[in-house]
Order: sequence, then C-alpha cells, then structure tokens
Amino acid sequence: MHAASLPRTDTRISYPDGATSSIGRVVHVAGLADGRTGVILDQTAFHPVDTAWPDQPADRGTLHFDGTEAAVVDAVIGAVHDGALYVGSDVPVRTGTADWTFTVVHVIAEEGPAVGTEVRVEVDTEYRRALSAGHTACHLASLALDAALTDAWTKTVPLDALGAPAFDALAIQTSRIHPDGSVDTYRVGKSLRKKGFDTSAFDDLAPIEQLANAQLADWVASAATVRIDRDDEAITARRRWVCELPDSGASIPCGGTHVSSLSELGSVTVSLSTQSVTGGIELEMRTTIS
Ligand SMILES: [Zn+2]
Repeated sequence: MHAASLPRTDTRISYPDGATSSIGRVVHVAGLADGRTGVILDQTAFHPVDTAWPDQPADRGTLHFDGTEAAVVDAVIGAVHDGALYVGSDVPVRTGTADWTFTVVHVIAEEGPAVGTEVRVEVDTEYRRALSAGHTACHLASLALDAALTDAWTKTVPLDALGAPAFDALAIQTSRIHPDGSVDTYRVGKSLRKKGFDTSAFDDLAPIEQLANAQLADWVASAATVRIDRDDEAITARRRWVCELPDSGASIPCGGTHVSSLSELGSVTVSLSTQSVTGGIELEMRTTIS
C-alpha cells in the first residue's frame, strides 16, 4: 500500500446553486478516529456544516459507488496544510485561509471507495428544502429585527444590508438553522451599550415583534427572488446571499443554501424573549415558517 496523497485543490461545490445530486471522483479517503471513513470528492452537492460558524447543519443523504449505497452520517469541512488533513472542529483556520486546501468530508460508517472511484451524491431533498427555507427566513428575520430596533440606538453605528443600524451583526452570539426555522441569540452588554444601544428597548418586546412581523409579512408577500452570488465553484470562493426586496436589494455574506423565491416560504414570524446573563441581557429570536 502506498500512502494516499492528500487533496491539493479545493472541492468544487454545487449546493449554493441549489443542486441536490452530483457525480464526483474520490480524491482522498481518510480513516477517522472513531472507525468511520471520510470520503473527499473533487466536486459535490453535499452541504457540510462549518464548525467555525455552524449555523446550517450538514445535509443528509447517501453516496453511491461500486454498486452500493452508504448513508452520509455527517459532513464537515476538511483542511489540508503541510501534509496533514484536519477534519471538522480540528480545522484550526477559517475556510479560505491562504496556503490551505479546503474540502468537503463526507463521513460514512463503512469502508470508503478507492481513490479515483466515481461516486454519485444524493442529498435528502426534503430536509435540504426545509433547511434552505429556514436559512432564508433567518436572514430576513435578522434584517427585520435590525429595522425594528432602529429607534433603540442613540449613536451612529455600522449599518446592515438595508441601511438599518446593524444590531444583528454587532450583537449576534449564535445562529442555528433548523427545518423551517431558526434560533438566534444576541448579547447586549457593556460594549453595545457604549456603542449607543438603549436596553430599555427590551422592556416591552411586543411592539418590536409586531414591527418585525409586519415587515416580514410585507417581504414574503413581495415574492422577491433569492440567489447566491459567487466568483467560482471552489468551496473557498466568497459567497453572498442576494435578495431583491421591493425597496432595495439586500446582500449578505453566507455559506449556506436558500430557497430561490420568498414565495416558497409561506408565513414567517419571529418571537422574542430575553434573559439576564452575566454583564448584560441575552435576546433570543425564534423564527418560524408556517
Ligand atoms: Zn446565511
């Protein structure tokens, strides 16, 4: 056995365009610590979770090769540098760091196919659709929240993609997409108060929710188109979520998948709650599609 060489080019990905199946060739097979196998292809439609910012979970689906089918039990980002492959949470750098190669690692329980084997990737389309809807709703909700909190700011701060004070970008702690929804948590502490955020805005959350939900209803009714813009197919290419909202187009950096029109969402609503945490207030926004 000769040592399998590590990938030297970034994986090409088709999930940003909405693809849910693809055919690729195996470029590397890695034995993982828990007895599982990591299969790296030259190109894939399979969306991996980005452990550095794990907002959208990995797709579910199967790999088809040599007349057999293997369930993908996880999909993460793999990074190669100096002759070593780092997988998932072991990747020590952000995707796109110079002099590193970035890949999608399809994790299966079985032994992997040989390097060079043709593999068909089939993504669970219903799960993907629901995650894409949840992710699009999550972006819209963050913009609606920013707009609804405009009056809470007493100083000039950076603005979001639609020109409202960027509460979401300045306060976000975690963002988790799930099928047909999302949960975002924000933290308002000393530094945000210093930037001019008046926390008394949280004393009564009902009017903020109402403003945000009215805005969301307007946007969904507009049936605006959604797309991902990117320079090339490499997983390292910067990607942007672009939504042609009625008054202004919105463009936000994003590595996930989305619906192609807001007409696919149905009704999108948010509910807000706060709790005291050390040094400040945590705001939770639950976004639901119904
Ligand atoms: Zn996103």
